Amino acid sequence: ATPTALMAGTGKAAENGILFRDGEAIQTMKDLDIVVLDKTGTITEGNHSVTDVVVQPGRSSATDGGITTGNPGDDTASASGRELDADELIRLAASAERGSEHPIGNAMVEYAEESGIELSDPDAFESVPGKGITATVDGRTVSVGNPKFFDDELEGNLPTHIANRLRELEQEGKTTVIVGLEDEPVGLVSTADTIKDESVEAIAELHDRGIETWLLTGDNERTARAIAEQVDIDPERVLASVLPQEKIDKVSQLQDQGYNVGMVGDGINDAPALKQANVGIAIGTGTDIAIQSSDVSLVRGQLDALVDAFTLSEKIFSKIK
Ligand code: ADP
Ligand code: MG
Repeated sequence: ATPTALMAGTGKAAENGILFRDGEAIQTMKDLDIVVLDKTGTITEGNHSVTDVVVQPGRSSATDGGITTGNPGDDTASASGRELDADELIRLAASAERGSEHPIGNAMVEYAEESGIELSDPDAFESVPGKGITATVDGRTVSVGNPKFFDDELEGNLPTHIANRLRELEQEGKTTVIVGLEDEPVGLVSTADTIKDESVEAIAELHDRGIETWLLTGDNERTARAIAEQVDIDPERVLASVLPQEKIDKVSQLQDQGYNVGMVGDGINDAPALKQANVGIAIGTGTDIAIQSSDVSLVRGQLDALVDAFTLSEKIFSKIK
């Protein structure tokens, strides 16, 4: 492309909310075979809200967590702690999440506030990226996270009610985390996120151009597949339960198979993968670090601009050879 064509092109792109770092980024765009899309904040809005709270029946919130079923009239639960109902479960989980900046944690704190549930100040807050958080609330250890956060064997050893509800909620596309009291799973909290208006159509248009789309997320497989289904991404192309440091590996695996890979993301967790990709594309409403690590940013944060970026790349670089 001539410098003039490039200048005119980038100017027009900028007017449409597409910022290219340089001419090379525009040129490489049209050669992409695969676009890997982060889920939360890229395909979805990233504004989680609490949808379901599940309590393992027969639990008290006491440290010893005595099973109270089968003993009618026995008031062990109320004697040794507040009864563990949905409100108390949310109170403990949201109090623990107070120190968290994760959308899941924010959703719980917001939900508690809206429900008039008073939170405690957590101590000893610790967070493990891609897994969960733990804190001391009113002297008790509260953990909130995915099965991997508790232990690798946990998913097969959950109490039946929790295990069944976990599977169902995930199949509904809800991000579901386990709440543990003194390391014992006692309940679940689901949050859900809405798919952005433009995602479905933009992904369909990428497919029409012969571009393969993949979904990459730290969320679990079932939730990821449910979202993939709603935006018509092939279930075989869902990469779920990916730890932040593994996102980069997934992109380079696809490159090793000979593909030119574009990666779209919004988070701190996506930044290394954006750098690794042939073209890193940041959601402009995302974190600064994602934008700084990218070659293109989509100012309005919607995926339709991605389709425009492809059109532009093809236009500029097919005219002049
Ligand atoms: P994503 O790639 O979707 O942005 P993350 O890597 O941030 O996902 O998180 C992946 C998973 O780790 C979440 O779906 C959740 O199961 C767990 N997780 C991370 N942070 C928290 C938290 N603060 N509270 C509970 N669970 C968490
Ligand atoms: Mg994200």
